[in-house]
Amino acid sequence: MSKIRVKKPLVEMDGDEMTRIIWAKIKETLILPYLDIDLRYFDLGVVHRDATDDKVTVEAAEAIKEFGVGVKCATITPDQDRVQEYKLKKAWASPNGTIRSILDGTVFRKPIMVKNITPAVSSWKLPIVIGRHAYGDIYKAVDFVVPGAGKTELVYTPAEGEPVRVPIHNFQGGGVVMGMYNTDASIRSFAKACITFALSEKIDLWFGAKDTISKRYHARFKDLFAAEIEARQADLDKAGVNYRYLLIDDAVAQVMKHPGGILWACMNYDGDVMSDMVASGFGSLGMMTSVLVSPDGNFEYEAAHGTVRRHYYEHLKGNPTSTNPVASIFAWTGALRKRGELDGTPDVVAFADALEQAVIGSIESGHVTKDLMSLVTPRPASHETTEAFLATVASSLKTHLHCAV
Ligand code: NAP
Ligand code: MG
Repeated sequence: MSKIRVKKPLVEMDGDEMTRIIWAKIKETLILPYLDIDLRYFDLGVVHRDATDDKVTVEAAEAIKEFGVGVKCATITPDQDRVQEYKLKKAWASPNGTIRSILDGTVFRKPIMVKNITPAVSSWKLPIVIGRHAYGDIYKAVDFVVPGAGKTELVYTPAEGEPVRVPIHNFQGGGVVMGMYNTDASIRSFAKACITFALSEKIDLWFGAKDTISKRYHARFKDLFAAEIEARQADLDKAGVNYRYLLIDDAVAQVMKHPGGILWACMNYDGDVMSDMVASGFGSLGMMTSVLVSPDGNFEYEAAHGTVRRHYYEHLKGNPTSTNPVASIFAWTGALRKRGELDGTPDVVAFADALEQAVIGSIESGHVTKDLMSLVTPRPASHETTEAFLATVASSLKTHLHCAV
């Protein structure tokens, strides 16, 4: 069979540790044998980020802007331990944070559901998609350890006119203080991206914040979100998509009793935390995909989990691993499907579908990595290693594609 041609380039971002190992295997066994594809490769592995003073991350984000679609492997966000472990010049910023700020995007996380895994929350029958506002708040905050007694205040110096000073706290001793921000433009594009996503998936849209306590910051989110909803109300009505604003704690309580099939729009920090809760509620972090959508229509796909550090250390000791590659594979299929949609190449979309079917079919016939062992019913006799599971998917894909031609 001849290879399927992918018309325009796809931006590929390599990453770290166990996911880097899985990434290479996915490319070698599931992608390159079938596709004639121009991959624009950026090595976002922490060693190369360090060597380029993190310029490679900015270049990768610019390339996504140029070509419209990217696929990214999980990467280390270095802390002081990592600086020592990898002998880095400094604790570079989170690559995801850098890419999100450049694309001003919203991250949507969607669980991958299979018939033989029942979610931990018995009411959940359909995916709960988390829309995370991926700009600003604590991720772009400045914070400060107050060494001792003294006053802290926020100062706004307008382009013209007198500065405005808002007292924060009069410290009697040491403490901490933080200044964070967001912009009207980013909040609006967050709301717009959520509305677009809810309309395209025809699912209800929830937004939760804490405007009763944060009467200006959170209230601004609530008001701007409502204004964007109003602007699209006719489209929402036509599609039968309902919008609900809830207090964040009410949203958390309601979601535990809900059947799913909703998009839950979250502020940046809530989205960070809630997406992990929803992921583990649906099964495993290894079964959660993530896509960053920018207001001007650029897409970046990745797995929602990290580099699976503990498994990597086992791998380095020469021990077998059983790491779930499903979310990383779905990052590729998501990106390829989007590339196919944008380029008008249905054979590329069909390839993405076939690869996803190969993965889902493998799990539903009892081939699983260790993280799924206690979740799958009936419980399989044993789990597969990372490599064996990928080989199962590869052979199933081969069968799928031969059936298709
Ligand atoms: P992690 O990679 O998300 O893994 C945490 C634990 O979750 C694993 O030890 C494993 O549990 C389980 N797990 C996650 N993904 C799995 C998979 N695919 N298959 C099987 N089990 C899976 O988080 P971490 O190990 O704490 O973080 C490692 C690095 O990832 C950090 O440096 C962090 O900065 C980075 N990170 C990157 C991203 C990103 O690039 N998007 C996101 C989050 C974190 P068991 O150990 O119990 O098997
Ligand atoms: Mg998180």
